Amino acid sequence: MTELHFLLAGATRTPHLMARPAVTVLAEYRPDGDGDLRGAACADVDTELFYPDPEEIGAAAAEWAERRSKMVCAGCPVRTMCLELALERHEKHGIFGGLTAAERAALDQRRRRAAARERHAAGGAQ
Ligand code: SF4
Repeated sequence: MTELHFLLAGATRTPHLMARPAVTVLAEYRPDGDGDLRGAACADVDTELFYPDPEEIGAAAAEWAERRSKMVCAGCPVRTMCLELALERHEKHGIFGGLTAAERAALDQRRRRAAARERHAAGGAQ
């Protein structure tokens, strides 16, 4: 039994409808498959690690799962693609590319603001 399974043991959990491993989500997005997904570090990792829900498993277990999943992502060879696709798809749940949904939303907002500033600067230079 892994540490996560130990933490989750006995918890009442309902599988999250959106709980799919990133590698599955990415494969759905690119059904033709171009080989980029090979080597995704989460392919053989418990999906629930990437969908920590404090209401279901408690704050401590959720925090542990988030840290652990981010460690998996940190060593993933397709991390950048995973993150960009999650941003494109506006994935509302789960950890993709090493970021939570809230962290992805914040990154998306920063990028939009930066793009707006660039457009404004370019317009001002004309
Ligand atoms: S970055 Fe993380 S969530 Fe994305 S494919 Fe790699 S291990 Fe999976």
